[in-house]
Amino acid sequence: RPQQAAHPKIPLPGDLFAPERRNSRGVEFGARAALDRLLADVKTGAADLKPITEATADRANAAIAAARAGFTAWSRTPAAVRAAALEQAAHLLESRSAHFIALLQAEGGRTLDDALSELREAADFCRYYAAQGRKLFGTDSLMPGPTGESNVLAMRGRGVFVAISPWNFPLAIFLGQVTAALMAGNSVVAKPAEQTPRIAREAVALLHEAGIPTSALHLVPGDGQIGATLTAHADIAGVVFTGSTDVARLINRTLAAKGGPIVPLIAETGGINAMIADATALPEQVADDVVTSAFRSAGQRCSALRLLFVQEDVADRMIEMIAGAARELKIGDPADVATHVGPVIDLEAKQRLDAHIARMKTEARLHFAGHAPDGCFVAPHIFELRDAGQLTEEVFGPILHVVRFRAENLERVLAAIARTGYGLTLGVHSRIDDTVEAIIDRVQIGNIYVNRNMIGAVVGVQPFGGNGLSGTGPKAGGPHYLARFATEQTVTINTAAAGG
Ligand code: NAD
Repeated sequence: RPQQAAHPKIPLPGDLFAPERRNSRGVEFGARAALDRLLADVKTGAADLKPITEATADRANAAIAAARAGFTAWSRTPAAVRAAALEQAAHLLESRSAHFIALLQAEGGRTLDDALSELREAADFCRYYAAQGRKLFGTDSLMPGPTGESNVLAMRGRGVFVAISPWNFPLAIFLGQVTAALMAGNSVVAKPAEQTPRIAREAVALLHEAGIPTSALHLVPGDGQIGATLTAHADIAGVVFTGSTDVARLINRTLAAKGGPIVPLIAETGGINAMIADATALPEQVADDVVTSAFRSAGQRCSALRLLFVQEDVADRMIEMIAGAARELKIGDPADVATHVGPVIDLEAKQRLDAHIARMKTEARLHFAGHAPDGCFVAPHIFELRDAGQLTEEVFGPILHVVRFRAENLERVLAAIARTGYGLTLGVHSRIDDTVEAIIDRVQIGNIYVNRNMIGAVVGVQPFGGNGLSGTGPKAGGPHYLARFATEQTVTINTAAAGG
């Protein structure tokens, strides 16, 4: 956990779940207590967990108009002040970590481990974009030029940015998008996923409390229709989207169809992510990394492993070891500290995944099926395919597909990966440096993980984003991200003609 050192204030799982933990006034603290309180309040009806009213199209359009009105003042607010607000947001988030972890578990079904690392990532985004923004927007750049002339390059906000986010990282991705757009001097209308509006509402309240003016940041809860209304609005200057490739395409079409100025779309989308394990890989490590990459977060990570290519010579043994490691996973209540695999997001997702499993049972060889409790749970499954082409779309759940390959056919494996059209993550397990280098050289994939699991995306350390069907770039949490939210302006002045 390299991120831990940066956030000493967030307690570790063992601390959070120690029942005797109390503060000096004898009040229980920690996520366990916060979650128990939240769940008890839900039972008694005391919690404000009523469905959040979805916005109408009129309300969405009004939010754009209000954000437009708020843009001028916010874009003129010094970068240092904007950055300070984001830093304060990170601080507030950490000081309320138990509450946000409870919310992530209650609304997002996140396990404790996932909720904790998501909270860290959210705070990291705020601080990283603040630091980057101070550099990028803090002073205008003086460009070299001829005597008698000054040339200045300035970065400015574009206008109203629409931020559309998914449910699978309802806090970190939501805050990452919104804080990047705000740091660059835009006003923002944010539309969170319809499954996780409460987390978004609390995140927006926190940003307002941290110093982002209410006129600069507006929340519009709603479904895809509301997202479509926002992206079709004539008065927006940009869209930042994370979600499925299909919806990114719809947004692209909407933006292109409405005429007027060309509006940038920053899109981070899905993937059919592969891992290649050759005969030199360490089997125990492969098993461990495969199980983590394919089944953690119930496979509901855009980076998750879907397609494992194993070299024929070691395939039987590796599959057996992977199945053995999968057998150890505990599936169930995300609030239980022992749980590895929590629920999937909703019944619709469960039905879609159950249908895929049923189809695979007729088309592929089943190597492993875990046991899921009743409810919104899907057990981990491992299928062996005859051909990678049998997997034609992103399956967003705990289902691993394995394909065997012969050493002399590595080229075919790379071609199969390229044929998916996606380019988000790739895992490589091999102890031959030449093989690893050859693979890295040949693929166009955004994030590659060598001899380790595919859980990554550490802000400022492993900037994250894909190519092809997986997104437009630039990478979130990386040094080039903020610039895409801004517009550049050069001012050339004939200094010889300056008066006074
Ligand atoms: P989704 O595409 O169904 O929804 C994403 C958002 O788009 C939601 O807020 C939704 O309401 C909105 N939306 C739906 N239709 C719209 C339309 N016509 N116009 C505008 N907005 C619309 O995705 P999801 O199910 O919420 O999330 C899972 C997907 O997100 C997976 O494909 C996953 O790979 C991807 N994802 C990618 C990354 C990444 O960094 N590359 C990160 C997380 C998730």
